[in-house]
Amino acid sequence: MNIHEYQAKALLRSYGAPVSDGRVILKADEAKTAASEMDGPLWVVKAQIHAGGRGKGSFKEPEAGEKGGVRLAKSVEEAAEEAKKMLGQTLVTHQTGPSGKQVNRVYIEDGSDIERELYLALLVDRGSSRVSFVCSTEGGMDIEEVAENTPDKILSFSVDPATGYQAYHGRRIAFSLGLTGGQVKQCVKLMGILYKAFIEKDMEMLEINPLIVMENGDLKLLDAKLSFDGNAVYRHRDIAELRDETEEDPKELQASKFDLNYIALDGEIGCMVNGAGLAMATMDIIKLYGAEPANFLDVGGGATKEKVTEAFKIITSDPQVKGILVNIFGGIMRCDVIAEGVVAAVKEVGLQVPLVVRLEGTNVEEGKSIINNSGLNVIAADNLSDGAEKIVKAVKG
Ligand code: GDP
Ligand code: MG
Repeated sequence: MNIHEYQAKALLRSYGAPVSDGRVILKADEAKTAASEMDGPLWVVKAQIHAGGRGKGSFKEPEAGEKGGVRLAKSVEEAAEEAKKMLGQTLVTHQTGPSGKQVNRVYIEDGSDIERELYLALLVDRGSSRVSFVCSTEGGMDIEEVAENTPDKILSFSVDPATGYQAYHGRRIAFSLGLTGGQVKQCVKLMGILYKAFIEKDMEMLEINPLIVMENGDLKLLDAKLSFDGNAVYRHRDIAELRDETEEDPKELQASKFDLNYIALDGEIGCMVNGAGLAMATMDIIKLYGAEPANFLDVGGGATKEKVTEAFKIITSDPQVKGILVNIFGGIMRCDVIAEGVVAAVKEVGLQVPLVVRLEGTNVEEGKSIINNSGLNVIAADNLSDGAEKIVKAVKG
């Protein structure tokens, strides 16, 4: 689960991390009051979307102006003006994809003077099964190019969970970032704060880009991107409250309400499968036969007819779906329940695209006869590769 920059900063501020003063606004007429609550002489006006690269992004609408999603202003009036221009418009960055994201919230921040821009991240490193620090002297808006062209400028190391964060971790980061004197002490303390927040709140990633050295030598978090382990959010009511559903894929949101494991993808074949392993195998075999899956969907072991119906509706609501492959191995899940769900859903929403159904396992004969007697135009398949071949053929001709 992702949150907005202003929420991330408020959370890290509560742990004692240095961030600028700022106000979030949802309506244009709040902009001037918000900006006037800060002294200046510099204001930063920042589009709040769940995607990075805002500074280098651009707006679709000409009314939003030429500049990107992070704008500097030299007066309250100018800050308010820039905030108004951005609100409601569509910001496209390298992380949003070409359709961009609508800006529904704008953060107005007290501007900082910057001496140096550094990069810092904490993440769960699956390779070492540990939490890792990643840092670089080359912070700012070109970090992707640094990783690509000069990876030696990035330092990464993991923290032993048995000891947790230690001051020497912080010193290692400070020295690699070229910090000296009192900055080293600040860095050791700050890294401890960030590590604590990361562990306590079950984060998956914490990215501070840039972490800045100000002209007076102090450190500050100028940007903050946090994502949390979705399976742990139930333990943190304060984090759950920060969820902004307007930032999420509506299909995924609907699926989560029915406890379905659904991830929207870019392809044309909708998949309804039980079990994550079989779902992945199904996606692979669709690719093997030359098409792309439109989604990952695991309806789970004990899915009810209602859940299957809902899953089917979510798949068919995707205009990119040109065909559907139902691939069920009935173990705990019974094939007749799946068949009833599919038939009920098709009767409710209609079937505009070819549907291939492959059933195997518990109550398979009952399942097949429900489908066969439903009067629906369903293509039956005998096994996984047969199913994939048939749906790809039906879609691609
Ligand atoms: P991102 O483009 O989505 O990563 O947004 P950031 O919050 O990282 O802002 C992009 C860039 O704007 C930063 O790398 C800074 O160079 C600049 N910036 C952001 N805040 C300030 C500020 O307070 N003062 C100054 N001078 N520049 C800022
Ligand atoms: Mg940034």
